[in-house]
Amino acid sequence: MIRIRSLMALVAAGLALSLLGCAPAASADRPLVVVSTNILGDVVSEIVGDQAEVLTLMKPDADPHSFEISAREAARLRAADLVISNGLGLEEGLQRHLDEAGAAGVRHVVASDAVDVLPYKAGDASGAPDPHFWTDPGRMIDVVDALEPILAEIPGVDRSRLHEETEAYRSELQALDAQMTAAFARIPAAQRALVTNHHVFGYLADRYGFRVVGTAIPGGTTLAAPSSSDLADLVAAIEQTGVRTIFAESSSPDQLVRALAEEADIDVAVVELFTESLTGPRGAAPDYLTMMRVNTERIARGLSP
Ligand SMILES: [Zn+2]
Repeated sequence: MIRIRSLMALVAAGLALSLLGCAPAASADRPLVVVSTNILGDVVSEIVGDQAEVLTLMKPDADPHSFEISAREAARLRAADLVISNGLGLEEGLQRHLDEAGAAGVRHVVASDAVDVLPYKAGDASGAPDPHFWTDPGRMIDVVDALEPILAEIPGVDRSRLHEETEAYRSELQALDAQMTAAFARIPAAQRALVTNHHVFGYLADRYGFRVVGTAIPGGTTLAAPSSSDLADLVAAIEQTGVRTIFAESSSPDQLVRALAEEADIDVAVVELFTESLTGPRGAAPDYLTMMRVNTERIARGLSP
């Protein structure tokens, strides 16, 4: 009896502790901005600086289509001053928590509401939107322009400091865009074809005049499995265009693309790109600007004569 009672006391104490652990941390003195993906988390941190705590839910090297968050993070999401997500169906694993935060009265901004949205494939009758707008820095500028006035409304955020930081970061995005334009100009028009294992470059293709030749994973989500006819179509596309470099993503296994290279039985190089996620601070793509520059360099080198 005594043993049972002390066990129950332990359970109760543990429950109380875990409830405490789940409670939102006291928001020191800074407002809390919760951001879904690490790419947007980096962009928001650049413009808001230290004027708010920016909590990024998606870990480095994660898949934005399927990442999960902890109960503690879900609690902080519901207590945030502002929540920023990518939208267009990207955060499949997070939607329930975003809905709960919305129901709790948290202001929620969908970044992709600020951009000119493309369908996954031009002329695709299904009209499914492509969520990967960040591959175009021009559209990221649209997002930054839309976020500034919203961040400025958070109590405690100094508008002129925010404006200064936003201007500085906008200049960096414009410089990135110019750099990408110059680098891709080295690629002959006929070679401007991107073959990837997951359809993420629609917006980059739109801005810089690339064709997205084939994708082994249809429908744009890494959760979908390719059929053998998808693989055969991709092999046909590679042979037809004669591209010598195909691109794999860092956030999904590259065995698929390597298998394709073998199946195509042609001399195809497989180059890794950072498409869906930033790396950790010691990786090759620790922030959005670096990620885009590394990809630009690798695409330009892979497709130039
Ligand atoms: Zn994706």
